[in-house]
Amino acid sequence: MTKPQRPQQYYDQIKDKFREERDLRLDYRPPGTDQFTSEFSGDLAKYAVDPYAKDVPSREPISDEVEVLFIGGGFSALLTSARLREGGIESIRIVERGSDVGGTWYWNRYPGAACDVVSYDYLPLLDELDYVPVDHYSRGPEIFSHCQAIAHKYNLYDLAVFNTTVTETRWEETDQLWHVKTDQGDVMRAQYVICANGTLAKPKLSAIAGMEGFAGHAFHTSRWDYDYTGENLEHLKDKVVGIIGTGASAVQIVPELAKVAKEVFVFQRTPSSIDIRDDWPTDPNWARKLEPGWQSKRRSKVLAAVENSLEKRAAKGASSPEEKLKKQENANIDYMMRIHRRIDEIVNDPVTADSLKPWYMFMCKRPCFHNEYLPSFNLPNVHLIDTNGQGITEISAKGPVFESKEYELDLLIYATGFEVQQTGIYNDIVGEGGINLQDKYADGIRTLLGIHTAGFPNLFIMGGYQASFQFNLTEMLQTQGDHIAACIDYVRANGHHALDVSDEAEEWWVQKVIEHRGKTNRSEDCTPGYYNFEGNEQRRQDGNFNGGFRQYFEHQGQVREKMEENFHLVSRKT
Ligand code: NDP
Repeated sequence: MTKPQRPQQYYDQIKDKFREERDLRLDYRPPGTDQFTSEFSGDLAKYAVDPYAKDVPSREPISDEVEVLFIGGGFSALLTSARLREGGIESIRIVERGSDVGGTWYWNRYPGAACDVVSYDYLPLLDELDYVPVDHYSRGPEIFSHCQAIAHKYNLYDLAVFNTTVTETRWEETDQLWHVKTDQGDVMRAQYVICANGTLAKPKLSAIAGMEGFAGHAFHTSRWDYDYTGENLEHLKDKVVGIIGTGASAVQIVPELAKVAKEVFVFQRTPSSIDIRDDWPTDPNWARKLEPGWQSKRRSKVLAAVENSLEKRAAKGASSPEEKLKKQENANIDYMMRIHRRIDEIVNDPVTADSLKPWYMFMCKRPCFHNEYLPSFNLPNVHLIDTNGQGITEISAKGPVFESKEYELDLLIYATGFEVQQTGIYNDIVGEGGINLQDKYADGIRTLLGIHTAGFPNLFIMGGYQASFQFNLTEMLQTQGDHIAACIDYVRANGHHALDVSDEAEEWWVQKVIEHRGKTNRSEDCTPGYYNFEGNEQRRQDGNFNGGFRQYFEHQGQVREKMEENFHLVSRKT
């Protein structure tokens, strides 16, 4: 059946509405990213406490030397370590704030936590661990267990240090090693340091007037307090619960709260787009037939495929760049209107249904996939408080206040997200000549591939800006991990001690990032959110490489083909 052709006016009117809704939100949040706080001290210190680290034994400060030290123990560290072990490196240490490996999946244990990327693509090292995920989409506990299994397989627990936060990473000329200091008084020396502290690792709270004085119980989604809620949320039966935020975390949590809590108030500023979650248990017959190396083959196929998005397909056959853009935008709008129709079909109350409709282009915000979120709003105990772009700006001792109405709560959950891609600059990183990485970046981020930065020998950054960004993050991280392991292997195989990127190679990459980010103004047209720095103006180089994942992967290979040109390779001075 051919699709009915809609007049261009239909699309133009929807684009106007997108613009109106964006401007409404921008007007409400002039501070941009400064509307949030992630420095949890004083009354806010409780929001950073690790609820999963029970009875942490005290230990003596460590003063020793390892070959490779990872800051952070999530997927970045795990999948890079696998390659380093394969390359014969024995001395690997993970230093991790939590009490186990797992990163995101250590912290985000909220009810309903699951991954929106197909498990056979998302879980890394399936070939190496000879593991086939249980379902098409993995739940949080399975992914956390997989992280632990990787750490066991590659003996990463032996030297790991948990419940420890790195405070300073300093390159010392005297021994040409990194000296890594921690909040536990450690001074560990390492030849190579890999910043693997996650793309969305540091929880942030919307800075709301009066939040410190809330008299009920409160926590951030990444610090779920099961002592309060009960393992199966059974303690919430007689509790009134509020949740601020309707991003990917809240979309998974709300249906779980809805099943149990006495009342649930969902405080929405901007709705997420919610599509079908097409999940099923892994077919054992399919799993049995998988040949060794199946996941690598699957990943190679993705890399080889020309990006073939919905919009690119729609733009095929367009005669001019303007026509191509129009076709892409119209296809995007068609998709979003399908999302709207789905809401009308599921949500009974038309006012609530309207409030749940996202008015922005697909991918302006992180898309969500859930089959129970929208039906939750048909339950009598679930109430959507639509702040229509304004957000909650006041919290009293009793609870959030909106339009002079006080919502009295027993429990307030902040689903307000995380600091974005600050990996590499959480602790004080001081390179050659005493240069601090933050100071180096003051006039704009400067890296090669988002991984190397000049003046910081043997330091590697994973998941930071100027790298490619992928919906399947682990695949991107695996390419970075493979690249880093290959670089370290090159240094060792050629009898060097250190590698540092040349200024020319760094400049080449900065220009590449700028060139690709200058191609569209899509980001400015979007409703504010963390994908577009909350609508803040941003230097073009201070973002991701938008030239495509395959191209990013190919650039990695090209860089490694000319190691001597792209890097200063030095032997240890005696
Ligand atoms: P997000 O940053 O995506 O969402 C934060 C939410 O808080 C937004 O809805 C935001 O509204 C809202 N908000 C902020 N301040 C206020 C306020 N004052 N009043 C009302 N609402 C407010 O954080 P999440 O933790 O949901 O998700 C972060 C990321 O983590 C995801 O984008 C995804 O990448 C990842 N993730 C992946 C999952 C998966 O695979 N399924 C599950 C969970 C997370 P507004 O939009 O208006 O800014």
